[in-house]
Amino acid sequence: SIDVSGVTKTFGDFVALDDVSVSLPTGQLTALLGPSGGGKSTLLRVIAGLETADTGRVTIEGVDATRLPPQKRNVGFVFQHYAVFKHMTVAKNVAFGLEIRKRPKAEIAARVDELLRLVHLSQFSHRLPSQLSGGQRQRMALARALAVEPKVLLLDEPFGALDAKVRKELRDWLRRLHDEVHVTTVFVTHDQEEAMEVADEIVVINDGRVEQVGTPDQLYDEPANDFVMSFLGEVT
Ligand code: ATP
Ligand code: MG
Repeated sequence: SIDVSGVTKTFGDFVALDDVSVSLPTGQLTALLGPSGGGKSTLLRVIAGLETADTGRVTIEGVDATRLPPQKRNVGFVFQHYAVFKHMTVAKNVAFGLEIRKRPKAEIAARVDELLRLVHLSQFSHRLPSQLSGGQRQRMALARALAVEPKVLLLDEPFGALDAKVRKELRDWLRRLHDEVHVTTVFVTHDQEEAMEVADEIVVINDGRVEQVGTPDQLYDEPANDFVMSFLGEVT
């Protein structure tokens, strides 16, 4: 599981996360949902190790990760403006993490084949990222994050910049991928419909605080407070 306990994060005198505690079971697909500026990305970055909490703890699969750098946390991440290597083919991009870990060539080739099949990009392996659609590029970024077999996959608005039809395709695909691979996954979205359709459990975050944690049904049937009720009722 991912256990966040009593995490506070301030920027100057602005409190971005205010005593956040949440526990996300192993293998679960969790959405961090809430309005802009609520603290979703900050929480994801604290879990990834890209920000250090002022107080509190982050434990990943039983290991205290609070002071570990990102590369020692066994997490893969895809952030909003994810840098892809523009001069490398799709296959090379996916292989990169394995190559810097000096895995055997044959193992890398087999793993890249498997991953490209998983994200439905096998026929595009020799293209450059610039020759892919936005949705295909996001799937490539996901394959790259999965390549090193992280225990945890963290996705910050992975479908943010895409049009409604592609978003829908990708969210269905993420759900199927998760059903196949079962990696503990946390994705950020401000789209309640996306969270309700895809996630096993939703963490509603507003103003640096957790408003409610629950399954889509629980949130829908028993919103904890007026904020959750009105936020879920909004149409974007
Ligand atoms: P969005 O949906 O717009 O991406 P979010 O929920 O991801 O919003 P965060 O990016 O976590 O929100 O930001 C939470 C608050 O913390 C915001 O008010 C933001 O301005 C502030 N913040 C985030 N990072 C920094 C930083 N490096 N320096 C100062 N303030 C920051
Ligand atoms: Mg954000």
